[in-house]
Amino acid sequence: MVYNKIEIPEEGEKIAVVNEEGDELDVPENPIIPILHGDGIGTDVGPAAQTVLKAGAQATGRDVSWMRIYAGETAREKYGENLPQETVEAIREHRVAIKGPLTTPVGAGFRSLNVALRKRLDTYANVRPTYHLDGVPSPVKSPGEMDMITFRENTEDVYAGIEWEAGTDGVQQVKEFVEEEMGFDDIIHPGAVGIGVKPITEFGSKRLIRRAIDYALEHGRDSVTLVHKGNIMKFTEGQFRDWGYEVAEEEYGSEVITEDTLWEERDGEQPDNAVVVNDRIADNMLQQVLTRTGNYDVIATTNLNGDYLSDACGAQIGGLGIAPGANFGDGLCLAEPVHGSAPKYAGQDKVNPTAMILSGVLMFEYMGWMDAAQLVRNAVEETIISGQVTYDLERQLKDAEKLATSEYAREIVTNIEQLA
Ligand code: NAD
Repeated sequence: MVYNKIEIPEEGEKIAVVNEEGDELDVPENPIIPILHGDGIGTDVGPAAQTVLKAGAQATGRDVSWMRIYAGETAREKYGENLPQETVEAIREHRVAIKGPLTTPVGAGFRSLNVALRKRLDTYANVRPTYHLDGVPSPVKSPGEMDMITFRENTEDVYAGIEWEAGTDGVQQVKEFVEEEMGFDDIIHPGAVGIGVKPITEFGSKRLIRRAIDYALEHGRDSVTLVHKGNIMKFTEGQFRDWGYEVAEEEYGSEVITEDTLWEERDGEQPDNAVVVNDRIADNMLQQVLTRTGNYDVIATTNLNGDYLSDACGAQIGGLGIAPGANFGDGLCLAEPVHGSAPKYAGQDKVNPTAMILSGVLMFEYMGWMDAAQLVRNAVEETIISGQVTYDLERQLKDAEKLATSEYAREIVTNIEQLA
């Protein structure tokens, strides 16, 4: 592919796909990896993550050739548009990429670039691990009990973007259809109304749930919990749950067992190496993660539930400065922190780059660089234990030293070199 405004690094090779299904990668020793710093604090955390991840690669005998790509403000400056086609193409072509946050105006203005990117790349699983790093302050008594990973469906639900603004012809047409043709004639209050549609498909649900179960099996996890609000939204959220059980019962044989079968046939005793699939209602789940944290392992859930739940879990392990994530499609990974662009802190060399660095750790794991991933994670942990942290953690810790974003990144690099 010839790019117009993206500079291709002089060294490095592209990651290749080696099977027909397009989901098995051949990762060279020095891959070219696209990086999008993002808006707001993306200008601080992006370069910090870049430095730390490169050091992690080099300390394990490899390298990374970063290729800057653009969306949001930097794309408006360079291309005069928010999400240039070549940015999407570069991610697709290189298979593995990392991005910082992108600003989305609330209410009016353009639609979320993050949602658009996920749609255009069909990265259907938003994966957010929540584990506690030693030394990170937390609002709960035993943060170490949390070791969960949330698979959030990323392409449908009320996030799909099918909605009509109050006062438009479109909303009027949909309202008339719902009331006159479908017979829901006494539900929508009179006056102005905005309407959205919540599609939950069998295809979208099953591929997400399969991915969560595969992950649980590959990583020796005990359970996959389907989180839904199916008691109220029976034909969308309830169906998500039912399709989940269908996948579990029909596609995996004895390695996957439902919670009902576990009790009916085995008196609750879990067979070795098997994954138990159960389900919880979303509101209850927000309590469960606080009160019975250790009971949960892998979560598979719809888009909106997953957004709420993973942010709440993120708070328990130290907040937005820490919480990593990645979007996965078939043979595609776009890593990104959970947090947004926090505009009031932008460009101050102040915020915590850990979330973006740990998103890079997820990306390394996907590339099969387990040693580099573990090394970076250990070096981050070591740095935090030593009390050298950014402002968000420093203010919650006794005797800690407040570092700038860039100083903290350098400290992690020193620890990578010492631990390697
Ligand atoms: P935000 O995550 O940007 O910030 C909320 C608060 O969290 C900040 O004020 C700050 O106190 C704290 N915080 C966030 N990241 C931090 C870090 N790395 N270190 C220390 N503290 C940190 O959420 P918001 O204010 O709701 O959103 C701001 C913008 O970001 C909006 O335009 C929103 O649409 C966008 N956003 C983008 C993404 C994404 O790109 N994936 C995700 C969420 C929000």
